[in-house]
Parts: sequence; structure tokens; C-alpha cells
Amino acid sequence: MSERLVILGSKGGPAIRPGGPSPTASLLEIGGRRIVIDCGLGVARGLVEAGMALPALDLVLITHLHSDHVLELGPLLHTAWTAGLKTPVQIFGPVGTRAVWDGFVASLAYDINLRIDDEGRPDIRKLVQIEEFGEGELLDENGLTIEALRVDHPPVVECFAIKISHQGRTIVFSADTAYFPPLAGFAAGADILVHEAMHPDGVDRLVARTGNGDRLKAHLLASHTMAADVGRIANDAGVGHLVLNHLVPADDPEITAVHWENEARLHWTGNLTVGRDGLELAFPPPKPQRNTV
Ligand SMILES: [Zn+2]
Ligand SMILES: [Zn+2]
Repeated sequence: MSERLVILGSKGGPAIRPGGPSPTASLLEIGGRRIVIDCGLGVARGLVEAGMALPALDLVLITHLHSDHVLELGPLLHTAWTAGLKTPVQIFGPVGTRAVWDGFVASLAYDINLRIDDEGRPDIRKLVQIEEFGEGELLDENGLTIEALRVDHPPVVECFAIKISHQGRTIVFSADTAYFPPLAGFAAGADILVHEAMHPDGVDRLVARTGNGDRLKAHLLASHTMAADVGRIANDAGVGHLVLNHLVPADDPEITAVHWENEARLHWTGNLTVGRDGLELAFPPPKPQRNTV
């Protein structure tokens, strides 16, 4: 199996617009696992377009319970199930994830029970295993380790950056966060850092377009990271490759990849990619095992 990162949904926030990008979701194929990170609207379609057979789904990580990260969790699992899922799926999410799942299966009880009786499918409620996590190690299994770091995303308290490592390769997802210097330590030496980003001119244009401008701007500034500060985190962490993701705004024609790069380049000179739906990055091959700092 190829080892790759695919950005399935690259925009921040729950809105979708004609021809525009989807809310947050990513696929990481590594060490024989297919890991979905966040389940914004469009995740099932994105996985299919990326060439992944949905019944192969086996691990899902939810960084926090804002809807642009979790809205399609239930529908993804249900769609995988109707596509033939027969094997267990592990879901790691913050406190409240179980309630999201239980509410979904309750709302679809008629359909689920019908398909079990009528089509002979296994009970999806027994295939899906929810584990609610806090900060620290989530998983250490066959050389795959997953760790979580609580980040700064007020008013959400249960929001976690995720670090996934396998055979000397490491990738870190920032989740949604204000500029958070401890993230540089968490991501130190990572091959890839996928970090959320805001563009200052884009935020001003976004605020000017909306009716609730002052409240929106205050929320964005308190809870998210300007692209220049993302460059600062990548530089302090010494990562191999920075991917800007969860773009705010993601669908302003006046804010192009060059504008994003110019901001991130204020503090970052290394490899840089501006996220977009369908962006695929090959993962570096396994490295000889060594002691890491
Ligand atoms: Zn978000
Ligand atoms: Zn959020």
C-alpha cells in the first residue's frame, strides 16, 4: 500500500459554496493503516475520490467537536457500512464523541435495523468502537503511535493536536488553535506539520462581508493562527514540510496560494505547501530506528 497524506477538505468553518473546498478532513495511509483525521462535510466523498474503498476504513481521529470537524462522522461510518464494512473501526475523539455517535445511530435506527434484518448486515453499533481521549498517548500498536496535545482553541477546551508516528516517520496535525508555542515542541523534528492558518487580509475581507463582523473577528483572532505565526511554529519545530490547512478564508478569489506563501514565508524558509482539496503528499519511507529527542 502506498503511504501518503491526502487533504480531503482544506477549508476552515462549516460553510460550503459552489465549486469551493470542503470543511476539514484528511486521510493518512501509513503502516498498513487507513487513518482519517477529522470528518467535516464531504469526508466520505473525499475518501472515495482519493481511491480508498470505504469498507477498508479502520481508524478515525476527531480533534474536537466543532461541526466542521465532526459533522460527517456518523454518515461516513454508515456509508462505509452500507458499502460492505465488516471489520471493527476505532474512533478516537474528545469527551462528547460517544454522544455524537449514539445520537446518530438513534436517529438512523429505522434504517439500521431494517438493513440488518433485510440485507443481513452485521450490527454497525458493534463494529464501531468509540474511545474518548485526553492529552497523552492514545495508541501504541504494531509500531504505530498516536499522541495528543491539548491546544488553545477557546471556547473549546477539549481540542487536541495529534502526532502520528510509524518507523521513524512523524506527522503532526495542529487541529484548530490560536498561536500556541508548545506546539513547536510537540512537533519537533516532524516530517510533516499540517497546521491551520488564517490570512490577515482575508480575515478583514471576510469580516467586511458578514453581518456579525466584530464578534466574528474577535473569535477568529482568539482561536486561530495567522499564517505568519504558523511559519514561526514550523521554524521553531524544525519540521521537514509545512502544509497550511483549515484555511480562513479558503474561498476568497483575492487570496491565492501566493498570498498564503508570502505570509508563511515571513518566518519559514523550508518546504511549504498550501493545502487544497485532493492535495496528496507521498510519505517519506521508513527510517532506521534511532533514539529521538
Ligand atoms: Zn475548524
Ligand atoms: Zn474549531
